[in-house]
Amino acid sequence: MLARSAMLQEHVQSHRPTLMHPDTRAVHGADLHDTNASAVASPIYLSTTFKREPDGSIGSYLYSRYANPNRDQFEKALCEAEGGQRAYAFASGLAACSAVLQCLQSGDRVIIPDDAYYGLRSMLTEIFSRFGIGFSMVDMTKPLQLREALQEQAQLVWLESPSNPLIKITDIAALCAIAKEHAVPVLCDNTWATPYLQQPIPLGCDMVLHSVTKYIGGHSDVLMGALVCATDDEFSQRLRRIQMLCGAVPSPFECYLAARGLQTLPTRLRAACRSAERFAQHFASHPDVESVLYPGLPSHPQHNIAAAQMHMPGAMMSIMIRGSEERALAVAASLQVFSHATSLGSVESLVEHRKSVEPADSRTPGNLLRFSIGLEAVEDLIADLEQGLSAVRS
Ligand SMILES: *Cc1c(COP(=O)(O)O)cnc(C)c1O
Repeated sequence: MLARSAMLQEHVQSHRPTLMHPDTRAVHGADLHDTNASAVASPIYLSTTFKREPDGSIGSYLYSRYANPNRDQFEKALCEAEGGQRAYAFASGLAACSAVLQCLQSGDRVIIPDDAYYGLRSMLTEIFSRFGIGFSMVDMTKPLQLREALQEQAQLVWLESPSNPLIKITDIAALCAIAKEHAVPVLCDNTWATPYLQQPIPLGCDMVLHSVTKYIGGHSDVLMGALVCATDDEFSQRLRRIQMLCGAVPSPFECYLAARGLQTLPTRLRAACRSAERFAQHFASHPDVESVLYPGLPSHPQHNIAAAQMHMPGAMMSIMIRGSEERALAVAASLQVFSHATSLGSVESLVEHRKSVEPADSRTPGNLLRFSIGLEAVEDLIADLEQGLSAVRS
């Protein structure tokens, strides 16, 4: 009986279509394939330690900080989705950022976008400057600026597209080509797009970073980060040592939730993108709106780059409310379907007045509200902002 089921298993494996649709791979790639009880849903291995083999040798697992089945499974599934060779999960998106910077050494320099995620900039300024790691900022929508910045030695180019909160799109392939001329590796923070809208590795990036907290987790209940390496090179091995030795790792339960999030990610994202497109179109020519920053609108300055490099324009946008900062804050406060809260990428829609959470030197306009479009019916989302705008109309 056992032999027969093993044979059957082998048959299924060898006859599995190799080029399955990404949606199918998302569902089956993130499953732990339990061999113990044949459970359909993945089990969670809470054990921190694992028994050695009878001869004293170490089996598949030793100690959970080094590796555990749930983390392995999540890393494998994300790695496949991004088209990389190795992935590493961390306790948060910023722990993943920190691991990358810990791979550098005193005297090294990183080139980051001028509107990089503010946590990265604060980390470089407050923490890594003390270890002699420098950085410079360029407008990545102007490839010439990167070319100029690379005249000075640099060890890493950091990209983020779409950017936060100005929704700038950078031409990932073009920037990778420039960095390659100088043999400088490129990392792309792909948190906002996810591998289903944009794959930085085939575009030339060496590393991809995720705040798993956002779209991958997808329900505002997991704090986690991850890195995917295009090749298992020396940098990748250094990341592995930092994951093991510095210990900023997620728990098995979080890895289980994140793997589950990966299974529904393509479908959730597609629904959110469709709503976002309609939401953006509705408010693009609204009298109470100064402008809508959304890559799907032909008015977006990098609309063509987004159309070429992304499958869909995403579910994030910023809307500049006509009038003062106070007016924008009042609109945010009057919304009832949208929650006024930070973060993004979840089933529920969120709105955020970015300027008031950013550091004092923030260049974000005071009348800007950032929207994360979730999975509610878009009619309700449109009606909510309509009522918010009319509530503050003078
Ligand atoms: C949220 C976010 C991060 C940080 O991730 P955490 O999980 O909050 O630590 C990094 N990059 C981007 C683009 C983000 O949106």
